[in-house]
Amino acid sequence: MIACLGRFVPENDVESRAENDDVSTICKSLGLKGSIDFGVGATNGSADKDFGGMYSYKPLAVIRPSGADDVAVVIKAAHLQSNLTVAARGNGHSINGQAMADRGLVIDMGSTGDSHFEIVKVKGSTYLDVSGGALWEDVLKRCVEDFGLAPRSWTDYLRLTVGGTLSNAGVSGQAFRYGPQISNVAQLDVVTGNGDMVTCSESRQPELFFNVLGGLGQFGIITRARVLLQSAPDKVRWIRLVYAEFDEFTRDAELLVSLKEERESFDYVEGFVFVNSDDTVNGWPSVPLDPAQVFDPAHLPQTAGSVLYCLEVALHYNNSDPRSAVDAVVDRLLERLGFVSKLNFPVDVSYVDFLLRVKLVEEHARANGMWDSPHPWLNMFVSKSNLAEFNRAVFNEILKDGINGPMLVYPLLRSKWDDRTSVMVPEEEIFYLVALLRFPPPHEDGASIKKLVDQNRGIVQYCKDRGFDFKLFFPHYKSEEEWKCHFGDRWTRFRDSKKAFDPKHILAPGQKIFSRIS
Ligand code: FAD
Repeated sequence: MIACLGRFVPENDVESRAENDDVSTICKSLGLKGSIDFGVGATNGSADKDFGGMYSYKPLAVIRPSGADDVAVVIKAAHLQSNLTVAARGNGHSINGQAMADRGLVIDMGSTGDSHFEIVKVKGSTYLDVSGGALWEDVLKRCVEDFGLAPRSWTDYLRLTVGGTLSNAGVSGQAFRYGPQISNVAQLDVVTGNGDMVTCSESRQPELFFNVLGGLGQFGIITRARVLLQSAPDKVRWIRLVYAEFDEFTRDAELLVSLKEERESFDYVEGFVFVNSDDTVNGWPSVPLDPAQVFDPAHLPQTAGSVLYCLEVALHYNNSDPRSAVDAVVDRLLERLGFVSKLNFPVDVSYVDFLLRVKLVEEHARANGMWDSPHPWLNMFVSKSNLAEFNRAVFNEILKDGINGPMLVYPLLRSKWDDRTSVMVPEEEIFYLVALLRFPPPHEDGASIKKLVDQNRGIVQYCKDRGFDFKLFFPHYKSEEEWKCHFGDRWTRFRDSKKAFDPKHILAPGQKIFSRIS
């Protein structure tokens, strides 16, 4: 593993011991209600690791706050030092060290997971007030079991925190209809880089509110979010449909996300590319949803190429709906689509099991050591007009043998994203999420992982060279020039907001956008 492209602090380094002593003295004087680990204690946990497994930056201390007050005290204390930084850590599911603080303070938001959990009604809408450190998985279970309610927009995997995904965007197959998770939040409690505790919304401190959403943790730490809810269905008809032709796949995917009437489409639309072979991880066997289903390649047309496409859709329904009525709706929706007939894989599952579907993948990957190995993932948004060329060059050439993991590709609508937030997306109304979720076999050496990182870089470079309208999702850059390019004409706004809300550049140092100012 290339672990540790980052810098380790030598344990016997005199300077770092003095630094540890300073921080230990400062932290002990803070009178926090939560707990603190220093020195070796701080690095025994996971604050110097993330899901990406390629970077490691050791913090001086890890703080487990009891709530927003503790977060504010820590940030104010960092202000009094010339070089101390503070990183909120959600569940550490970043890829490139974004939730780490090299010789800084890591605030483990998981300790605040239960600080807020309240259903509130405002002007006829129902919301959940929830802690920034809560896991979406817990939000789902408690909302559905206790209230029969659920957030509208999700991520595919739910062991991510509310504050972590709201600092990025939060995207899954519901985003075409409701926008990303950041489009489904009405109010936030934030502790800014000045240590101020602020409640903000569209009408109250809107600059902070919109900057924080998708703001990569740069402006404040989210301690509470007010998330819009809807009533939760009991069940889901989850279906995978296979396409041999890219054009037909994208035409149908775009049709489903563009239909104005909710009842005219599915409630969830995603898609992925897979290899036209019997490879168990990358090929035909990766498609069926039930062990009893068999992918019979004899149904594929002669024209099928080296990769195939799968549209993944889901329809919500309730236990009280007659099965015949559900079948009729599904049949009507499928009638319009041009997938390869007979390569259609439906299952009925509970709504909660559907949303927890990646948990099974996690269990499997943990069992075979692939969850804890490095993950050189690449996530991007590519505009519709560039996707065909991307498909030819990337999916059909560079990645034609697969990546040992899912290659997601599905359309989103720009009009469901709010330009006032910090997240950057392509210009066109329809753009695609492209996610290369690589799971290299365990024990790959550093050189093999580096090759995959280089392949990702090559793909990004290709998009740049071809002048594509694209943006990195979970961007990772090392120079200010690259960040400026990422934000384009919104860079000035981003930089000025940083000056207003975190003038000393204390927060989220792992994003490597701004350097600490003394
Ligand atoms: P972390 O990785 O811990 O933190 C991410 C960034 O946010 C850091 O800069 C951190 O400092 C900052 N931060 C964390 N908490 C707060 C807070 N309370 N306030 C302010 N800043 C904070 N994303 C999707 O959109 N859709 C998906 O379907 C999806 N699936 C995923 C599946 C897997 C297996 C993995 C590993 C990731 C997936 N992600 C997905 C990416 C995920 O959204 C990001 O990794 C995100 O960072 C959330 O992870 P986290 O809560 O662990 O945050």
